[in-house]
Amino acid sequence: MPEAQAATKMTSMDKYRFKRALEEIEKVEGRGTELVSVYVPPDRPIFEVTNYLRGEYSQSSNIKSASTKKHVMQAIESIINRLKEYRMPPPNGLVCFVGHKSVGADQTKMVAYVLEPPEPVQSFLYRCDSRFYTEPLHEMLAEKDVYGLLVIDQGEATVGLLEGKRISPLKNVQSLVPRKHRMGGQSARRFERLHEQAVHEFFKKIGELATEAFLNRRELKGILIGGPGFTKDTFVKEGYLHHELEKKVLGTFDTGYTDESGLRELVANATDVLRDLDLMREKTLVQRLMEEIRKEDGGLAAYGEDQVRRALELGAVDTLLISEGLRKFRLEIRCPNCGHKETRTVADESTLPKCPNCGHEFVVDSKTDIVDAFSTLADRTNAKVELISADSDEGELLMKAFGGIAAILRYRVA
Ligand code: ZN
Repeated sequence: MPEAQAATKMTSMDKYRFKRALEEIEKVEGRGTELVSVYVPPDRPIFEVTNYLRGEYSQSSNIKSASTKKHVMQAIESIINRLKEYRMPPPNGLVCFVGHKSVGADQTKMVAYVLEPPEPVQSFLYRCDSRFYTEPLHEMLAEKDVYGLLVIDQGEATVGLLEGKRISPLKNVQSLVPRKHRMGGQSARRFERLHEQAVHEFFKKIGELATEAFLNRRELKGILIGGPGFTKDTFVKEGYLHHELEKKVLGTFDTGYTDESGLRELVANATDVLRDLDLMREKTLVQRLMEEIRKEDGGLAAYGEDQVRRALELGAVDTLLISEGLRKFRLEIRCPNCGHKETRTVADESTLPKCPNCGHEFVVDSKTDIVDAFSTLADRTNAKVELISADSDEGELLMKAFGGIAAILRYRVA
């Protein structure tokens, strides 16, 4: 994997926009096998891709259904045309989704999406199906938090990293600790001392390895420690880890192995803890909001679309909390008859009222996703934006009680 050219880090807003685009793309259904998905890795010259597509184009003349044949050929042509803008793909490559989507009885409409993905496309792919192929993009969107991993017993230890879902072993060390067996009396005590000394040396060494591997990683969210029996707990309790690392230990977990497979066991056994951590941040934010709201003077909180917009415009918002589940648009609408203008938030464009002055239908001048609209406002005054997932309890509370929009304020707004 080309680690060096990893994508520039996406902000949560970039991610949100990308997710929304994916949602749109995944809704598209073709009447036949006629939706074309093309993944272009960053190092693939565009002319090679174009040549490949020309091959597919002539192949598709064999398609039996006349309408499917026409649609597939049009889709491929359209992609070839779009690729003309490039000589080489952008740093992360390109992903194209083009085809005719079914829009009710016998009707179709051509759609085309060309995206620069958040991470490098790994391999070239061409697919023609009744749906667009988006799986690889979901993988890219998955959270990529970094955790330190350490599995240890008296005989062996392995240090590794967990990045997103990827586990990478960094170092495996065998100890020189002699095994305990046989022997009684004097020699047993002497052996015991030697044994303890050897364990101590081994733990010290592993502690140093952990420092080397983890201490300078500021993005490290926590450290998971595993191994069979009590050794791992002794290791943590007796202070073999650097004190800064000790603070990051999320827990110890039983594993049967202390090699690379032990790292995998460790991650599997710590799944619940990792998931809870993610939700914890959101929980804390929403709880903080609730505390403010409960204060007698209303506290440093605002909620609901209008109140929060006003606070944002005044620059009074410290943290904007906005639900990922919000599916609304901000529309600028105009009456073409009398010129009356309004701005409205709607879930569905087809439910617009008639002009209050003359009863004419409105036309839409601009349409912005409401999450986008609010984040843009927030950016202007450097307010933090926190997207709260829709499926947690706190996310649900934010959605149901406050319409998905709330804010923690810098100062009270009268
Ligand atoms: Zn009018």
